[in-house]
Amino acid sequence: MSSELQLIHSEVLECTKCELHKSRTKAVPGEGSHDARIIFVGEGPGQNEDEQGRPFVGAAGKFLTELIESIGLKRSNVFITNIVKCRPPNNRAPRKSEVEACNPYLLSQIRLINPRIVCALGTPAITTLMGDEYSASRHHGKSLTKGEVTILPMYHPAAALYDASLKETIFHDFQLLKQMLENTETFNPSTPKSSEPSGSKQTLEKWA
Ligand code: SF4
Repeated sequence: MSSELQLIHSEVLECTKCELHKSRTKAVPGEGSHDARIIFVGEGPGQNEDEQGRPFVGAAGKFLTELIESIGLKRSNVFITNIVKCRPPNNRAPRKSEVEACNPYLLSQIRLINPRIVCALGTPAITTLMGDEYSASRHHGKSLTKGEVTILPMYHPAAALYDASLKETIFHDFQLLKQMLENTETFNPSTPKSSEPSGSKQTLEKWA
């Protein structure tokens, strides 16, 4: 992990910027490659994540891993994080003030990793990145841009645990994700981004 990403990681572990720090067991900064082509952004840690300090390690995380592997990648090839880094009590939705307090960490992670695509998993992540008029049901699988960042909204993997009919839709959206990667580069899922010609790198000078 780059030193700047490591610094963010350390700050999150000590953070007391919102009320969520009071009830957390462990903060969950995120994990994965600092050179990732894709960042997955979920809503927030659940019970398993709060206990382990790692993102997407419960049932939804298992499905996310399956989805990532369905397009020829491994979890270690991508970066996985959330819009809030501490678990909301009883898995309630994060409050706007909590999302706003935590957002600088997410934006810094995106700026430093500079991925090809940010996958926003579920409506809370989608609205945080794109605005309140966006949702998973209306915008999943549609490529959007914000500043110089490409954002692909998707249903949250947990949605398929409650509604099995969404599973096929989510797998289909992951195939779109694979196609988007293929369209931006000569697709070799396991090749580190740093090994590509510098001219092919998407720059991220600013957010918004
Ligand atoms: S949710 Fe984010 S802002 Fe709130 S305490 Fe945790 S790391 Fe800090």
